[in-house]
Amino acid sequence: MHIVILGAGYAGLRAALDLDRLLRERGHSDQVTLVDQHSYHQLIQVIHRVAAAAMPPDAAIYDLKALLHNHAITFVQGAVREIVPLQRIVCLDDGRTLSYNRLVIALGAETAYGNVPGAREHTLPLHTYTHALRLRDHLVAQFQAAAQTSDPREQRILLTTAIVGGGYTGCQFAGELAEWVDDLCAQTGAPRREVRIALVERTALLLSQFGEWATRTAERILDQQGVSVYLNTVVEAVEPGLLRIAGGRVLRAGTIVWAGGIQGPPLLRASGLPVDAAGRVLVDRYLRVRDQALIFAAGDCAAIPMRPDGATVPATASFAMRQGEHLAETLLAEVEGRPPRTYEPLVLGELVSLGHNYAVGNPLGMPVIGYPAVLLKQGVEQYYRAMLESSLAP
Ligand SMILES: Cc1cc2nc3c(=O)[nH]c(=O)nc-3n(C[C@H](O)[C@H](O)[C@H](O)COP(=O)(O)OP(=O)(O)OC[C@H]3O[C@@H](n4cnc5c(N)ncnc54)[C@H](O)[C@@H]3O)c2cc1C
Repeated sequence: MHIVILGAGYAGLRAALDLDRLLRERGHSDQVTLVDQHSYHQLIQVIHRVAAAAMPPDAAIYDLKALLHNHAITFVQGAVREIVPLQRIVCLDDGRTLSYNRLVIALGAETAYGNVPGAREHTLPLHTYTHALRLRDHLVAQFQAAAQTSDPREQRILLTTAIVGGGYTGCQFAGELAEWVDDLCAQTGAPRREVRIALVERTALLLSQFGEWATRTAERILDQQGVSVYLNTVVEAVEPGLLRIAGGRVLRAGTIVWAGGIQGPPLLRASGLPVDAAGRVLVDRYLRVRDQALIFAAGDCAAIPMRPDGATVPATASFAMRQGEHLAETLLAEVEGRPPRTYEPLVLGELVSLGHNYAVGNPLGMPVIGYPAVLLKQGVEQYYRAMLESSLAP
């Protein structure tokens, strides 16, 4: 059997490594191919730190060939353009095709702009490693430009960063940026007094999936760090250097970061797969794509049922990884002709960092804040790195 896994992120890489191990342990010779557009695995969970120069860029990526070196996994670097279920093939951008007996879609998500005019054209997203590098370089350039002018109004605009979206990405980046600006001013000569960071959220809560306690705590911490939080603030349009807010207000900013949501990759809908309103592929409790016996999906690109009220599993790295692990077992069952187990989402809680010294979260449902939360967050990251690095060992 040839099993093709699309996407070497948290879900896809985990699925590939675990499946390879299980197949070898059981003496199977089935072939596993992992496809990704990049030559590296990116730790998207930490890219906001790269964007705020709090982490060297190299620490956010791992070379895929090195990770797969000790495994019988074939790595294909290429961008997926289309999936053709009727022919059981995947088409890549460069014209190559791959045929499969079983397919796993783990292509992650893309930034969603929610039909806000100008958002795609005039903001910087923060969803990939390359986005993080671009944002970091843009910020340095804005601060350098501010140091070159003596007009305080121009300086203030250049040194204002508006972050749209108060979820994981927006809050974590705001916290990191707040810690960076002193150094950035010292390095560039930009006037510290003109620096502004605005976090704009359309609902009444930051980090809404965490509940009111975490939300209020995050708001307080960010406020202490000098981030102005604007709740119930709807961005209606974006123009170069300017946000138009519902109610007629405008916010001018030299840097506008769009962290306003995510959606499934458009190629899923274009390939005729069943998707929800956010473009995520619909799967059942086995992570099998609806009406597709041979195709599975995991991670941010999949709409995975969580509760009878229609809620789906949150888009986080921790869930994505466990879905990857689950799919490895499911695919082994497929190889061996056994029925698979259903996927039961394990809710372990989440942690959000707000700069280097603050974090907030609800591991195992318990509210945690401050240093204990920072240590836990670092522990989770170290655990993941250790898992990856064990693949590198001879
Ligand atoms: C700034 C930020 C901070 C975050 N912080 C946290 C956190 O603290 N904790 C947490 O649990 N979650 C966090 N998340 C969410 C977490 O990163 C995602 O839920 C997780 O990355 C999803 O894993 P995945 O495997 O579905 O997708 P990804 O990790 O995004 O992997 C998808 C892979 O598919 C590849 N790919 C995509 N399209 C194509 C194509 N057409 N062809 C070939 N390859 C393709 C990509 O290159 C990538 O390697 C954060 C996200 C962001 C943006």
